[in-house]
Amino acid sequence: MSWDELDRELDRWVERGRAATLWWRDDDAVAMTPQLATLLDLAARHAVPVALATIPVVAEASLADAVAAAPTCTVVQHGYAHRNHALEGERSRELGGARTAVEVGRELQAGADRLRVLFGDRFRPIAVPPWNRIDDAVARLLPALGYTGLSTFGVRASREPQPGLVQANAHVDPIGWRTDRAFVGAAACVERVVAHLAQRRTGAADPTEATGLLTHHLVFDAAAWRFVDELFARTARHPAARWIGVSEAFATSGPAA
Ligand SMILES: [Zn+2]
Repeated sequence: MSWDELDRELDRWVERGRAATLWWRDDDAVAMTPQLATLLDLAARHAVPVALATIPVVAEASLADAVAAAPTCTVVQHGYAHRNHALEGERSRELGGARTAVEVGRELQAGADRLRVLFGDRFRPIAVPPWNRIDDAVARLLPALGYTGLSTFGVRASREPQPGLVQANAHVDPIGWRTDRAFVGAAACVERVVAHLAQRRTGAADPTEATGLLTHHLVFDAAAWRFVDELFARTARHPAARWIGVSEAFATSGPAA
């Protein structure tokens, strides 16, 4: 799909007087690296807020320094150690599987404590399960553990799966994980952005769930970053599109539809 299709979809939002909200989540942050520098440069150049889903146990001080110097960055919690605890036959997951929900919850809290020490008030208690999977029993514990947000992948079933817990997912993943773990190409990504926006506009998906871009800075190649760069540039030029931060994406009152 061509970039022009994105403009045409956004035009339809203007006609309806609505803001096409988008948000950006990046997974697997651990340390300051050349790849993270590329991400931070893009975020700064386009002034787009980014939520860095950070792995608590392995997060390094260099990442805390980078976040402190990047005002549009927020840190959210990417599991605990990004370790697979799936039962045999289950798909990969850390937040569930072989352990009890209470055990998983205890580990999550230890992870949140570490992120709070490293990142202070730049950390928000939003759970981003590794592999985008969380067992229901663990998800049910999240509000009691202090989490106010949950983010997985795909159209959310409900905005507030539990009282006090707002879900906002990612919808556009430029990496073909099940094939060659490479960039799927700009055309396929544009198609996914347009598809989610169209679903929201027509009511096929929750219209108030911001369209989520998911990046993985450690595996992105130059072409994948070019897509993100172009997406930010195109949306900046269009009056309907608005990139929001986690405070708005996970607001209990819901983002402006
Ligand atoms: Zn991950």
